[in-house]
Amino acid sequence: MKALDFSEYIRVIDDFPKPGISFKDITTLLKDGEAYRAAVDAIIEKVRECKPDIIVGPEARGFLLGAPVAYALGIGFVPVRKPGKLPGETVGETYELEYGSDTLEVHADAIQPGQRVVIVDDLLATGGTISATARLLEKTGAQVVGMSFLIELGFLEGRKKLEGYKIFSLIKY
Ligand code: IMP
Repeated sequence: MKALDFSEYIRVIDDFPKPGISFKDITTLLKDGEAYRAAVDAIIEKVRECKPDIIVGPEARGFLLGAPVAYALGIGFVPVRKPGKLPGETVGETYELEYGSDTLEVHADAIQPGQRVVIVDDLLATGGTISATARLLEKTGAQVVGMSFLIELGFLEGRKKLEGYKIFSLIKY
């Protein structure tokens, strides 16, 4: 079967959510069964090489890619969420945004110290979200052995914030 060009399935919407941003919309890939499956399969191949014990997905689009990867590998999935969403005891990490700050949380007992974790998300932009996620997981004792994205906005140089981590992306802009 011919390899798909995943970038053809991404819809680019200019000036969303605000003027000057060229938003990469992944819903057009997700709604195509063949493209969604092929993209998840390609992510699985990369993630498998990291030999993870657990997949972590940040809210909300990280769930759409991380959960099928965990299912296929037969390992657990742990959600990272916005504050106040998780019912049990949580650990949090606050990070700076262009205007203000944001916090991410994970259940304190979700990951055992030393467990190998791969973070799966939709898109790497400045790297702020993913580096906060990695710090959060490391607070719980996890070992972050990989980070996987459908899309990487290379011109924002998010990788610079993530030195020392193994990073994969399927589509680069
Ligand atoms: P970062 O923290 O700057 O790397 O931004 C990454 C986060 O912002 C990801 O969790 C994405 O879901 C979201 N994001 C930023 N830009 C886009 C976009 O163009 N399309 C979809 N999501 C985006």
